[in-house]
Amino acid sequence: MAEDTQPTYEVLALRFGTHAGRPARDNFLFDEGQFPPGTDMPMDFYLWVIRNDRHLLLVDTGFPEEMALRRGRTLFRCPVDALADLGITADDVSDIVITHMHYDHAGNLDRFPAARIHLQEAELRFCAGPAMRHRAVRKPFEAVNVRTAIQGLFEERLVLHQGEAELIPGVTVHPVPGHTPGTQVVRVRTARGWVVLAGDATHLWDNIRLRSPFPILDHLASMMDGYDTIEALADGDDHIIPGHDPRVAQRFPRLAGAPDWVRLHEPALDGTPVAAASGAVR
Ligand SMILES: [Zn+2]
Repeated sequence: MAEDTQPTYEVLALRFGTHAGRPARDNFLFDEGQFPPGTDMPMDFYLWVIRNDRHLLLVDTGFPEEMALRRGRTLFRCPVDALADLGITADDVSDIVITHMHYDHAGNLDRFPAARIHLQEAELRFCAGPAMRHRAVRKPFEAVNVRTAIQGLFEERLVLHQGEAELIPGVTVHPVPGHTPGTQVVRVRTARGWVVLAGDATHLWDNIRLRSPFPILDHLASMMDGYDTIEALADGDDHIIPGHDPRVAQRFPRLAGAPDWVRLHEPALDGTPVAAASGAVR
């Protein structure tokens, strides 16, 4: 009964960039023969807005042009500037969830100098700790983002969560380690049920559906456990929103007047849960 009185939210995704010309093989730890050699499988970049008439939450901050150029990624538009499509300025954002500290998720943190930042404590320990002495481990991190998070710590606006937490009624964060030690997902109550913004706990629908993890990872067994956690938190296969799947922007309805944004709080346009491996360009 109580659940019926819970508020629901709009959940909007912005596809702001892509990494095209990427072999499918690069998106999976093991070659299990699921993709013929020469198969391309691009990865897109997203950030997300959760809002209703009382609350506004930004999930991740994308990355700036300078990082895109340096890392060979294509930025369609600045994701922070694109918030204007929704009538939002950076100053309007009081709370940001950072799913994890990789450059493509925390890259514009310095554009929000007054916002509260919600991060798992384990993630801060990792990205500000001794593991960063390894080039292969720190590759997806940028020191500027770690410094910005620590600046927020000193300004008492970095909120370090130790596990699950309710941020606003009907929106919770849940630790799903594996990709990084402090990766968290966001569960949101919507009109179509519980939606999970999985971030990089699953990059693509194929990673979770095939139980075939993305190769950048901290702990394989935790990653596999995380797939079960995500499925338990979501109300269906299409309620799981992967962090980088091009099909997210293709399968959900566009926002009127702002077609770069799609509405994840509504059912997918094709109505049937995505089939595993259907995203490959053969
Ligand atoms: Zn990512």
